[in-house]
Amino acid sequence: MLTDTAVGHRAPAPFDAAAIDAELDELRERVGSDIDVALPRAAELERRAEVLGEPALRWRCTLLRADMTERRGDLGTAMRLAWQAREWAAAANCRRVLSHAHELLARLYRVTGDVLAHLDHMMQAVGAMDDTVPSGPRISCMVKLADAYAETGSLAASRERYEEALRAAVAAGDLRRQAMAFNNWAYSEYDYGDMRLAREVIGRMVELSRQGWELDYCDYDTIARVELGLGNHGEAERAARAALAAYETDATDESDAVAELTLTLATVQRHQGNLTAATESLEISRTLCDEVGLGLLAVRVQREAAELHAAKGDFEQAYRALDASVAAEKRLSSRQREAQARNQQAVFEVSEARRLAETFRDQARRDALTGLSNRRFVDETLPPLLARAAADGTPVTAALLDLDHFKRINDTLSHEVGDRVLAEFARLLTRAAGGNGIAARFGGEEFLLVLTGLPRATATARMEHLRRAVADHDWAPITGDRRVTVSVGVTMAGPDSTAASLLSRADEALYEAKRAGRDRVHLDVKCRWRGMRDVPE
Ligand code: GH3
Ligand code: MG
Ligand code: MG
Repeated sequence: MLTDTAVGHRAPAPFDAAAIDAELDELRERVGSDIDVALPRAAELERRAEVLGEPALRWRCTLLRADMTERRGDLGTAMRLAWQAREWAAAANCRRVLSHAHELLARLYRVTGDVLAHLDHMMQAVGAMDDTVPSGPRISCMVKLADAYAETGSLAASRERYEEALRAAVAAGDLRRQAMAFNNWAYSEYDYGDMRLAREVIGRMVELSRQGWELDYCDYDTIARVELGLGNHGEAERAARAALAAYETDATDESDAVAELTLTLATVQRHQGNLTAATESLEISRTLCDEVGLGLLAVRVQREAAELHAAKGDFEQAYRALDASVAAEKRLSSRQREAQARNQQAVFEVSEARRLAETFRDQARRDALTGLSNRRFVDETLPPLLARAAADGTPVTAALLDLDHFKRINDTLSHEVGDRVLAEFARLLTRAAGGNGIAARFGGEEFLLVLTGLPRATATARMEHLRRAVADHDWAPITGDRRVTVSVGVTMAGPDSTAASLLSRADEALYEAKRAGRDRVHLDVKCRWRGMRDVPE
């Protein structure tokens, strides 16, 4: 049995960031149990974190709530919330939330049956982790990545990851997660039929009990199956009984667990030839399945019943039970297909909405006529660009460009010709920007060019080159014999430049270029005494 959640409980915490953080971890550890209580609690913590002005904490609460929402059957909402959290985390560069969001997305895609997306998101979840992720969640995440590899059949990669998770758990003195890694690893090997390796891993897991770790019912169930697979019936029975006993002591409320553990015991008993005991165990499992409506397990119970009848020599009954199991499986798979289709629809809707949102977002930051970035884009990107450049000493050159006597083009030719001139000029501007900066239309016939990482002389030479390229351009197809020229005001960012101060200095320089007769580049002279940054040529 794979370990998915862990147990543990703490009394409700008071509301401050540290207490929310602690309770959040607790809730996450046992996500899946007691959702009726835990879901409103997660929503409450989310509100408190919001009020406290702790966005990272708030998004972690959101992710937990999304996780529970899916467990309640609403995959679409869970997907949407998980993607929103991922987007926030990427923008805020919050690795912990980013990792958590990918971990949830991985699970959600797994629910839809997309094991590759599951693996992909688990890889991103592990990749996003840094020191801000505490060791517990970090190790759990590594184990889940190993599980994801195993599920896609990449056994070598999964083994490596289990070992890695184990090393981390040993270093952290985390016995519970060592057991989790061993259990899931052994189960994966069992699933692929490598009973010997599974047995070896189990041996290492049992070692843990000598260090004081009590194996739980999932661990014992895995042991029972592997021992059964190896033909060690006595060992298998001991483990199956230990699993049931451990379940009693753990007293968790995973309703399907007892039915599954009892089924394992029934199978073991049949192999031992103890058919009466096997029949009794199977009956218990069947009753539990009926009570809680466990589809997949009910199919397995039917199949075990068929084996049991056959073992008793009653092939007529065995045939009937097998028939019933096939029918049950058909019903189940058609229900699963419906659920799968619903899930895929939900995923489609979310990704479609995301794609549209991205398109709209992009369009809102783009000028329709020229395809260049617009003022809004500049307002959003220039301040962080300047902050980064100031921090690492990257030179930033900014130029405002204004077409000369543009009004005349409109007046003597037409507004439509004016538009074509603007679009053509935008192409020349984009070429000048190369890969080094921002080319934007500020409005009307005014443009902005920001070049980063280029030495001052190179950057200003590029501005001059652009001016000449415009003046020498063959405009005849658009404007006939009318020339088109541009005036350029250039400045450089200093250590204290803001977007506003930079643009206003570029504007002053542009004014000087116009005043001096247009079709020229004017360099802001104050650059020289304002401590402008430059890099060697
Ligand atoms: P200067 O050399 O001093 O910059 O002279 P100018 O004529 O270029 O400057 P002015 O600001 O007087 O005129 C700008 C003109 O640009 C006025 C406006 O009609 C025109 N314009 C603004 N937006 C557009 C547009 O999208 N398309 C067209 N065709 N014209 C536009
Ligand atoms: Mg103009
Ligand atoms: Mg103008």
